[in-house]
Amino acid sequence: MPADDPNQIAREKSLSKVRSIYSELASLPIERNCQLRTECCQFHITGKTPFLTRGEALLAAKALKATGRTSLPASKEDTCPMLDPRTSRCRIYANRPFGCRTHFCTAAGGALARKDVLDFIHRLEEIDEDLGGDGPRPISAALEYALEDL
Ligand code: SF4
Repeated sequence: MPADDPNQIAREKSLSKVRSIYSELASLPIERNCQLRTECCQFHITGKTPFLTRGEALLAAKALKATGRTSLPASKEDTCPMLDPRTSRCRIYANRPFGCRTHFCTAAGGALARKDVLDFIHRLEEIDEDLGGDGPRPISAALEYALEDL
């Protein structure tokens, strides 16, 4: 889509709203301490997979494209495709999804209480609707869908 396309402008506005949510979340007076252990990126360890709304997925897919990739990297089953096996780091850490910021990692402080982040969840759902999404999808499916659309 050209940069001056109305749909593209509307999409960029929606992605700015997702970035704002991430910034506001980071500024909450809640103790968080992600130590980049990456255990939460290995779903076979946690038994949980992040689900992404459309705005989160598009932002993450854009960040992945900025690394020079146009498709989802291959990954071990039950490991996040954004986890780089060479560095053991997230390829898109600055743009990682909401669930990766509120995760259930004990070392990082455990899961945030839903009541503390409910407003953010509702706003992400509204952005999902604005972007024509159909609700949260598991991270790989959400990213594949978003990559097709960039
Ligand atoms: S997006 Fe990044 S932080 Fe989130 S599970 Fe995947 S590798 Fe981990």
